[in-house]
Amino acid sequence: MKIICIGRNYTAHIAELQNEKPTDPVVFIKPDSSVLPKEQDFYIPEFSNDIHYEVEVLVKIKKVGKHIEEKFAPNYYDEIGLGIDFTARDVQQKLKEKGLPWEKAKGFDGASVIGKWVSKEEFLDVNNLNFSLAKNDEIVQDGNTNLMLWKIDEIISYVSKYFTLKKGDVLFTGTPAGVGSVETNDYLSGKLENIEMFNVNIK
Ligand code: ZN
Repeated sequence: MKIICIGRNYTAHIAELQNEKPTDPVVFIKPDSSVLPKEQDFYIPEFSNDIHYEVEVLVKIKKVGKHIEEKFAPNYYDEIGLGIDFTARDVQQKLKEKGLPWEKAKGFDGASVIGKWVSKEEFLDVNNLNFSLAKNDEIVQDGNTNLMLWKIDEIISYVSKYFTLKKGDVLFTGTPAGVGSVETNDYLSGKLENIEMFNVNIK
């Protein structure tokens, strides 16, 4: 299974990191070894002093596909999730400055939190979903999928031009404004609409 991530998919988050609005989505891949095992705590890795949370809506691919047309994209997923794209911001900043790939900053062990999955049928419209992240019970990020620059179906169509999508692959659809750092003993929890999707302790 692979994890395909979209960067800079919400305008406010672009402004926050002073990035340019891209003409194509920013795409990167995280290895399956980056998935934080269920119920396990997240350990801040020793190579970073600035681990950021990025809460993101997730999509689980249900069958193999390549060159998927946008109008057929809904046939390729049934389940929506919520997760965290943990990012070693200090490591990423150094790599960005040199124009180098981001894998060390985003693909390390535990860097992908994947919460529970909910059938898309539970929702009226996947392009109008509220979601939020709380740190120590205080909301630090909230967004709605209607603010995405590239909607779920567009993302599926776009990434499948480059990568064959396989059953079980997970799309991370980008994070809204409010990214920030975590410290030991922080507690993160994510909600999609009113559903509790994950809880993570930071160690
Ligand atoms: Zn992200």
